[in-house]
Amino acid sequence: MPTSYDSDRLKKANSANILHPASVVADVATKGPRIIATGKGCFITDTDGKRQLDGVGGLWCMNIGYGRPEIGDAMKKASDQLGYFHTFGGHSNPAQIELAERLVAKMPDHINKVFFGSSGSDANDSLMKIVWYYNGLRGKPEKRKIISRKQAYHGTTIASASLTGLASFHRNFGLPLTEVKHTSLPHYYREGKPGESEQDFSNRLARELEDMIIAEGPETVGAFIAEPIMGAGGVITPPEGYFPAVQKVLKKHDILFICDEVVCGFGRLGDWFGHRVYDIRPDMIATAKGITSGYFPLSAAFISDDIWNVLRDGSATLGAFAHGFTYSGHPVGCAAAMANLDILENENLIGNAAEVGAYLHKSLAEALGDHAHVGEIRGHAMIGAIQLMADRDTKTGFDLKHKIAARCVAAIGELGVIYRPLPTADSIAFSPPLCLTRGEADQMVDALHKGFHQVMGNLS
Ligand code: PLP
Repeated sequence: MPTSYDSDRLKKANSANILHPASVVADVATKGPRIIATGKGCFITDTDGKRQLDGVGGLWCMNIGYGRPEIGDAMKKASDQLGYFHTFGGHSNPAQIELAERLVAKMPDHINKVFFGSSGSDANDSLMKIVWYYNGLRGKPEKRKIISRKQAYHGTTIASASLTGLASFHRNFGLPLTEVKHTSLPHYYREGKPGESEQDFSNRLARELEDMIIAEGPETVGAFIAEPIMGAGGVITPPEGYFPAVQKVLKKHDILFICDEVVCGFGRLGDWFGHRVYDIRPDMIATAKGITSGYFPLSAAFISDDIWNVLRDGSATLGAFAHGFTYSGHPVGCAAAMANLDILENENLIGNAAEVGAYLHKSLAEALGDHAHVGEIRGHAMIGAIQLMADRDTKTGFDLKHKIAARCVAAIGELGVIYRPLPTADSIAFSPPLCLTRGEADQMVDALHKGFHQVMGNLS
């Protein structure tokens, strides 16, 4: 592939032919896209030659860093050997078998089965359907409702967009599905009451969850879904005691816990998985993104032995498990995932995420933590967000119509670093590749500091 492009021609052709995901349709059509051409390590370069440090790792997924030839080598080998064969009707391929073995070894003892797909959305969709299938087989077909959380992001298919708790993903689509309910957002900084301790806040949220379950009827609620740290919904770290309190309620009412590790999995929290950091004992786990660091669209959805046993025993009555995708267990994707795991393991990138991530958080706190317009800097290891506040003493946010987060991100981008305004529009997110060095962390902090002060200095 050439590394110099006719950027103007590409932009015109793009505007003529492409409907972009999660973009303002008219804006892309008139202003044109930004076209990313190459990447190396933590840096990307566009077709106009602009190079930036990618402080958000693509869409929270670029864990090993850009331009690693090992992934391409592995994919080429898998493509040359076979390219593709389906996995329906009991077919398999060596790559998915080896990947499954390696992934399951990293899971809790009670989770030993994996179902492959192509995206985080389809992983959550599949798990939601498996909840229904499993409860049907257990003679509880009415146990179908899934409780998610306000502001959460779990994808954009019909089912996963319903699990998502952001109004913009429901509006104009007639969503959410009636089976999906949303319980309280566990953001202590914004939702905690004056004088309420973090543990008391968690206990209150667990009570609210139980009230919802009782109001809906526990016999109608099949599962609860949550990320260990809520990513796109605000980078919300769980308050003290939150997951233990929630899990107690779920257990009491025979409700499954789906842990969405699409962002947190594969090292972003400085450990292989977020459920290990926050002591969650999930029944089902959704992963994607970091499983190939975005080099190939692949998802892996995991189920517990208890669920598997019910599915296995159900074969006699139901016959085939009538769910799956053309690309389930794709050999090229599985080979990419294995090369990605090799890099994560051999280069200790997860240890680096813990170490450099802690350094990044500390440096950001020193640079901006006391600023009058910064409410909190939250997150863990290689994920975080800066909460912007018009008045931090009274905890009053900026009027969202002024788009302060987006303006900061634009100013920081001009200084060579990509951050991201969150969908809530009141915070700036970061989730750099796990290979970030301390020097690159300094560059992220420096650009944020300067870009942030530029915008704050121009507030009228
Ligand atoms: N779950 C979480 C937590 C996510 O952040 C995302 C995407 O950002 C998804 C699911 C959906 O993944 P995909 O965009 O691959 O469908």
